[in-house]
Amino acid sequence: MPIRTPPHNPHDISRHDLPDILGTIDSEVRGMFGSDMGKVADYIPSLASVPPDQFGMAVVTLDGQVHAVGSARQPFSIQSMSKVHSLTMALGAIGDDLWKRVGREPSGDPFNSLVQLEHENGIPRNPFINAGALVVADVLVSHFGSREAAENALLAFVRARSGNSDAGRDEEVAASERESGYRNVALVNFIRSFDNIRNDVDDVLDFYFLQCALRMDCVELARSVQYLADGGHCATSGETVASPERVRRINAVMMTCGTYDAAGEFAFHVGLPAKSGVGGGIVAVVPKVASLCVWAPGLDEKGNSRLGGYALHRFTRLTGLSVV
Ligand code: GLU
Repeated sequence: MPIRTPPHNPHDISRHDLPDILGTIDSEVRGMFGSDMGKVADYIPSLASVPPDQFGMAVVTLDGQVHAVGSARQPFSIQSMSKVHSLTMALGAIGDDLWKRVGREPSGDPFNSLVQLEHENGIPRNPFINAGALVVADVLVSHFGSREAAENALLAFVRARSGNSDAGRDEEVAASERESGYRNVALVNFIRSFDNIRNDVDDVLDFYFLQCALRMDCVELARSVQYLADGGHCATSGETVASPERVRRINAVMMTCGTYDAAGEFAFHVGLPAKSGVGGGIVAVVPKVASLCVWAPGLDEKGNSRLGGYALHRFTRLTGLSVV
């Protein structure tokens, strides 16, 4: 009987030439500028004016190496990627009780949809749609005692994870989010009518708009989710942010719900836990190997970065690294 050679260690990223792989992806993506870039988010002026022909990508490996290409050091609006940070904080605050107030099933509806809430008694499907993130925001406002204290805790969390002690809010984006946030205002009031929002709705909304309006770059964002690749250990600060079991659960929710109502397509093409934002960023995790962030502001019809999704697809194909 022939003896099978053992497969190479799939976690050994050192056998890949990451600078070369990122360079290949960068030139492929730049070759797509002008044709199939998608459309930048246009619900607020400060996102509508971002030029679409930009691309950045960063990979942070568990041994702390950072590989970056393109505009990886250009700060942009992180938007819904912050839902990963706030979810981690809310689980840290109240543990699995969170799951009594928010589910963990894909919604199959747009991120800002109201339709399921009525049938499901104000329990949002998952923490990555707006309804769920608003409940998470409410949990944090309660836990920290005030909106301001919760905001400070969130800022401290992303700063400690990303290594950028100045990471902060873009005031113009925050103000525009508030001015145009009719759906979020509707969602928070509707959920409150089911008693699943416990604080003043304006405090919950202000916290939520702050988290959407944070500005960071790809390297910082990849660092900010590194704990999800490393069983809860944050290399930037040396702290333990979550248990390995909790990290597995957060990654599972990212895998099934992290890319709006295209999570099935995304798993099919990329196969990594990921969370996107309408600023054109996507963070992704290769458990036990690396964390990543890509940024290209043009979005597809579901609100995910079109070229960012392509870049992650190419990364998993070129490296063979995926969880599926
Ligand atoms: N800030 C936007 C909103 O709450 C969208 C955030 C996103 O999905 O990236 O409507």
